[in-house]
Amino acid sequence: MAYIVIMIIIIAIVVSRIVKSPNFIGERGEAKVANQLMHLGNKKFKVLNNLLLEHNGNISQIDHVVVSVFGIFVIETKNYSGWIFGDDKSEYWTQVIYGSKRRFRNPVKQNWSHVYFLQGILANRKHIKYFPIVAFTGSAELKSIKTDCLVTYKELLYQNVLDRCNDICMSDNEVNEVCELIKSYGIEDTKQNRHFHIQQISNNVIEREIKKQSMICPQCGMKLVHRSGPYGDFIGCSGFPKCKYTMKQ
Ligand SMILES: [Zn+2]
Repeated sequence: MAYIVIMIIIIAIVVSRIVKSPNFIGERGEAKVANQLMHLGNKKFKVLNNLLLEHNGNISQIDHVVVSVFGIFVIETKNYSGWIFGDDKSEYWTQVIYGSKRRFRNPVKQNWSHVYFLQGILANRKHIKYFPIVAFTGSAELKSIKTDCLVTYKELLYQNVLDRCNDICMSDNEVNEVCELIKSYGIEDTKQNRHFHIQQISNNVIEREIKKQSMICPQCGMKLVHRSGPYGDFIGCSGFPKCKYTMKQ
């Protein structure tokens, strides 16, 4: 009897660990967004979920890509609760939950790197428009988010996408071509590839820091310059508007 009770306790602990693990929470959030995107219908919108892509030795993991005649929607999902604070420029955003603060990578910057990655794959199709979107899926409340990029809630995502469907930039044929092209860069979702991707992110972080300290844009390699905007002074890329990289002074 005691043996059975111990077994049940062990199983309960293991299950609760899995459910609370960042991977599990992340995947649940992605599934919710994938569900929302299904409502767009697959005639006009081609939805690609959970992509692991490789191009020129770089690996990118993109939660959702929606290819349509109106352009490409690049969606990063975040499954969080609590209050969320963040802006375009900082490397990290803040989650405040039960009075304690935690930081996480700036999802807007993270998502821009996905856009640049896709632009690299589709380099000879300069007419394509890109719409980066960060969608929060948990019970998180977006408290103070200062960014030019759309940061939204999962529930609004469907309408947010439709609101941006104004100008046609691709034919139906090209939409299919682009989808196939993106998929052709897909690599197997193995532990090894994921590990390599994570390793690459940490290497990139170090490399980016070195570049930033030398006032070189970590995104495109051009010079960084001092600028002022509605939210105060900041450092931006001299390659603007082509490159939208910014950071705090
Ligand atoms: Zn730049």
